[in-house]
Amino acid sequence: KRKREGGGEGEYPSKRTRDVGLIAGHYNARPDVGLSQRKDSPIIGLKNFNNWVKSVLISSRAHPTLAASENIGPLRHTPGSRGMRGPPRGSGKVLDMGCGKGGDLIKWNKARIREYVGVDIASVSIDQARKRYEELRLPKFSAYFATLDCYINSLSSAIPDSHLPPTGNPFDVVSMQFCMHYAFESEQKARTMMENVSSWLRPGGTFVGTIPNASWLLDRLEAIPEGELNLSFGNSVYSIRFEERHHPALYGQRYWFYLKDAVDDVPEYVVHWDNFVKLADEYGLVPVYVKEFHEVFADNEDHSEFGPLLQNMRVVDSNGESQMDEDQWEAANIYVAFAFEKRSR
Ligand code: SAM
Repeated sequence: KRKREGGGEGEYPSKRTRDVGLIAGHYNARPDVGLSQRKDSPIIGLKNFNNWVKSVLISSRAHPTLAASENIGPLRHTPGSRGMRGPPRGSGKVLDMGCGKGGDLIKWNKARIREYVGVDIASVSIDQARKRYEELRLPKFSAYFATLDCYINSLSSAIPDSHLPPTGNPFDVVSMQFCMHYAFESEQKARTMMENVSSWLRPGGTFVGTIPNASWLLDRLEAIPEGELNLSFGNSVYSIRFEERHHPALYGQRYWFYLKDAVDDVPEYVVHWDNFVKLADEYGLVPVYVKEFHEVFADNEDHSEFGPLLQNMRVVDSNGESQMDEDQWEAANIYVAFAFEKRSR
């Protein structure tokens, strides 16, 4: 194992270290309920929609990068294909940072990648992701999973050299789904995260992700009447509670997030988009795509592949009726999807 980078946990004030413990503890404690119980979730429409957005992002932004250097053909979302049929597998390598329980493994199998590395701070989730991978029917890509706080440590401290060659940039795609915002607790963490993204991504490679939309969050915060001490908003599905009306810095703007049947009041941090773009630029990453989730929907609902996929993924029923109520739709639109490209030098 190579040396740790970015400092140890002891360098953070105890309050912040507690936040990391809360985040990891929360995700470790969430049960992996299996497919049939997952279908009974009270927010199943929203969960399916989030998965559909990730499928669109992976297919339209990550897959072209994976396919660019070789002729692996278009990605097909035929019902039930799970990556089993279709064109031959390419040589694509994907790093999934904050991979959780491996909810995107089937999406990556459909993208016909060859190698996958998944890391997450929650060791229970990593065990579940490994199990899900083992349960994927053949043929599938090869995968390596590791438990790692990748906002404090370098990837190389947890992943063997065989998966991370010391020279060269092994990954075509780095993916961070619904998890990057936890790094914006401090500049040091955000930089360690960016270093992990950029130093393992090949030039021309793609960094894709989904994060809460800072301007949407801050507009809602601003709309709370002056003098009101309770800085929270939400509906029957989610709630967000800020601790201060104004925050003096670009990092560490904390709020507490609750999402029914998913997230139980966990500390999260605002990702100011312009600051993120500026930071990413220092690491050779250029923004090529950013859309709010409702825009992803509007842009793709009539697409020849992604339109039918809405039904296959049960975002809409066979009559085209949405499986989300208005409160779920509002919660879905907290987020934006993004893609960056790694500059050639
Ligand atoms: N990406 C997965 C998905 O889309 O299904 C999981 C998303 S879940 C909402 C957020 C994930 O971020 C959790 O699995 C959590 O453990 C992980 N996470 C939070 N902080 C992290 C850190 N410092 N290092 C690695 N993973 C982290």
